[in-house]
Amino acid sequence: MKLLENKIAMITGASRGIGRSTALLFADNGADIIFTDFREDDNSKSLLEELKGKGVRAAFYAADASNHERTLEIAKEIEKEFGRLDILINNAGITRDNLLLRMSPADWDLVINCNLRSVYNYCKAFTPMMIKQRSGSIINISSIVGINGNAGQCNYSATKAGIIGFTRSLAKELGSRNVRVNAVAPGFIETPMTKQLGEQALNDWLKAIPMRRPGQPEDIARTSLYLASELSTYITGQVLRCDGGLSL
Ligand code: NAD
Repeated sequence: MKLLENKIAMITGASRGIGRSTALLFADNGADIIFTDFREDDNSKSLLEELKGKGVRAAFYAADASNHERTLEIAKEIEKEFGRLDILINNAGITRDNLLLRMSPADWDLVINCNLRSVYNYCKAFTPMMIKQRSGSIINISSIVGINGNAGQCNYSATKAGIIGFTRSLAKELGSRNVRVNAVAPGFIETPMTKQLGEQALNDWLKAIPMRRPGQPEDIARTSLYLASELSTYITGQVLRCDGGLSL
């Protein structure tokens, strides 16, 4: 049996990286996939085609996840088109790294809005459907830097720590409605986001990983699959680290 048969999943920022792998794995497991990203481009077009090729329903919405009004519009359309939402993955995220002394207010606001306000937007817009259904699984993508901190990432780590507090609070609010809310804290994962790092930083990360390899987007996708599926029906408010031991 497929783990997500008859489920409908929404993933934000899924045209590439971890979100894309998650969309593909969830589709392989039978879920219909709705995904977003800033804009329609070759990545979003090819993912939409790939998903449809797997025989599931798939839809793409061009949307900045930090835009509240746009999120509400999308929620309305999904309620009309799909009638329900079983799984929400808040995956959209960006970095604008700099030491605090050099971090501009614009880069602070941008990262807070893309990474944290977006989680508020999508949870607020989609939890009414889940509450009505009396079921749902929300997965917020945090990071181990939200737990341990990281020099040069005050803005990013603040959002990822914020996501953990948000996740625990919402889990307490929604537990009685059978809506589970968990976070995944990836370590160092090879995606376009981490490709921006220089060779020195990359080697430093690798040396610190007990499993001696970078994570792959599929490692995170499998972790989310567990939290989205019936394999984790009594787990809520947790932060699941998927980091090859990096944060030990
Ligand atoms: P990525 O840059 O490869 O992909 C992120 C995608 O999200 C991109 O397609 C981007 O356009 C989209 N996006 C970003 N902000 C958006 C917004 N406001 N609205 C719509 N789309 C938006 O990054 P990734 O490595 O796949 O990261 C996915 C998530 O995992 C992020 O939340 C990131 O913080 C988190 N994460 C990544 C790592 C890692 O090592 N790669 C580690 C810890 C956590």
